[in-house]
Amino acid sequence: MSFERKMPMDYDFQMPSFRLDGRVALVTGGSRGLGLGMALALAHAGADIAIASRTADELAAAEEMVRAIGVRTLILPTDVGDVDAVRGMIGKTVDHFGRLDILVNAAGINYRRPLDTFTPQDWDTLMAVNLKGAFFACQEAAPVMRRQGKGKIINVGSIVFEISIPNIALYTISKGGMRQMTRALAIELAKDNINVNAIAPGRFWTRMTDAFFSVPDLYESAVSVIPMGRPGAPSDLAGATVLLASDASDYITGQTIFVDGGWLVNGGVKA
Ligand code: NAP
Repeated sequence: MSFERKMPMDYDFQMPSFRLDGRVALVTGGSRGLGLGMALALAHAGADIAIASRTADELAAAEEMVRAIGVRTLILPTDVGDVDAVRGMIGKTVDHFGRLDILVNAAGINYRRPLDTFTPQDWDTLMAVNLKGAFFACQEAAPVMRRQGKGKIINVGSIVFEISIPNIALYTISKGGMRQMTRALAIELAKDNINVNAIAPGRFWTRMTDAFFSVPDLYESAVSVIPMGRPGAPSDLAGATVLLASDASDYITGQTIFVDGGWLVNGGVKA
């Protein structure tokens, strides 16, 4: 990148485009829940979509939903806890579509249990999916984006980027690592015109949180601290996702957008 050394008074700009036509996005964990919502948002903006996760019938159902929007799709059965599989996932996307413009790391798991129940195997499994897989996906995608002269990486974090909640220690540690990974890669890849940002959802009712939200008392206490008075839905991530994937965010990197109905700034006080 080279810049002219003078005050940049480029006031004759046009409205930045949020369109993603001709771009290719790969969404890990895109077969259901928040990842699927993000994949659909990117498809609505015009991107072709590759989806990676483990469960074949859910991948097929997600592919049908995305294809119905009118973009090209690719499904990639992948365990993101396996680094070789992660490398293969990026390679197959580039082989199929000829490029990769947007990487969304949304695959994730959570164990909701007290501290003394966790085993070393739990640690390895959770960190492999939530952190290691995302890191090696970024590492593999970066040279492709560098060659193309531009790229967008979006990591799906959590409100636990910033606060702590009881009984999800491993998850909280993994997401804390993901926040710093977002910052570390943002400064390292900025010279390559690759933006690395995160979206941190608050409380969303998905398969991951269904056992929690299905209990009326837990639902009520969770929602009582969310100023907007409801859990999030996959469509609530659409705006932030398209912003961070599009040219409209070209000077934003290393940042996190919290999408939480006001929960974080409410500081846990009852709404
Ligand atoms: P979900 O419905 O359980 O979806 C998880 C997705 O990740 C599925 O597509 C799942 O597919 C995939 N996945 C899990 N393990 C995988 C593995 N080893 N390899 C490849 N894919 C894997 O949960 P969700 O709520 O949508 O969560 C999506 C992301 O949002 C996660 O990173 C989560 O931490 C984050 N998040 C969720 C909430 C919330 O309140 N729900 C809040 C903050 C952040 P397979 O199981 O078929 O592989």
